[in-house]
Amino acid sequence: MTTRPAAHAISTWLDDLLETSTTPDYTGALNGLQFDHQGPVTRIAAAVDASLRTIEACVSAGANLLLVHHGLFWAGAQRVRGAQYQKTRILVEHDIAVYGTHLPLDRHASLGNNVLLATTLGLTPSSTWLPYKGVPIGVTADTDLPTATLVDRARAFAATHAHHVVVTPHDATRRTRRVAICSGGGASTDSIREAIALGADTLVVGEGPHHTAIDAEESGLVVIYAGHYATETLGVQALARATAEHWQLPWSFLPAPTGL
Ligand SMILES: [Zn+2]
Repeated sequence: MTTRPAAHAISTWLDDLLETSTTPDYTGALNGLQFDHQGPVTRIAAAVDASLRTIEACVSAGANLLLVHHGLFWAGAQRVRGAQYQKTRILVEHDIAVYGTHLPLDRHASLGNNVLLATTLGLTPSSTWLPYKGVPIGVTADTDLPTATLVDRARAFAATHAHHVVVTPHDATRRTRRVAICSGGGASTDSIREAIALGADTLVVGEGPHHTAIDAEESGLVVIYAGHYATETLGVQALARATAEHWQLPWSFLPAPTGL
């Protein structure tokens, strides 16, 4: 009988794979093994958010290592009360470890949200863009297709996560030749400026504030808002699949019903 791996061993392997130590991130991301357990790991679950719903679903799935994109500590130091207390209690009672990976997963060359969003939309990534503290997070792709076709593909993908795509105005004959992609909350004043600077005519993101739609239209850029949640389901699933294969463990994805 093979020996079951410890969360620490898997965590070290994941840190290497994801280049966690050399990828800058927001303080609250706290990339790596966020919550320890006694183990060993018997089953992996993957989810976008370390929400109370997700943690309860992890218990139902019988998993004891939870891989997430948005970890337990986005809000920074906080009192362990309310939902945070309930999460902590459930994790301890059910001996569940949590591993979080934010920008390292967004930018990963084969398992990343951005590369996988590109290929899901039928695009081939050609370069990287949108640095965070000097490290590029997004990908670009050169193509030549009607913008409406790209929108249709985004709609078909997002529909599988109950999300309705929003797109800025464009005429029916418009063509897309260079796409800049950034999953999650990818639309901002900076990303619009940088997309235009690198010659992109279309920006694909998860979401963004209202003003980004106005800024984009006035700059001749079309923005496809494909859903923060939907665009970030890709990386955690690919990561869990790769981890499960390497460590010969079963895994499952824990979908969230929000559609956001
Ligand atoms: Zn996100």
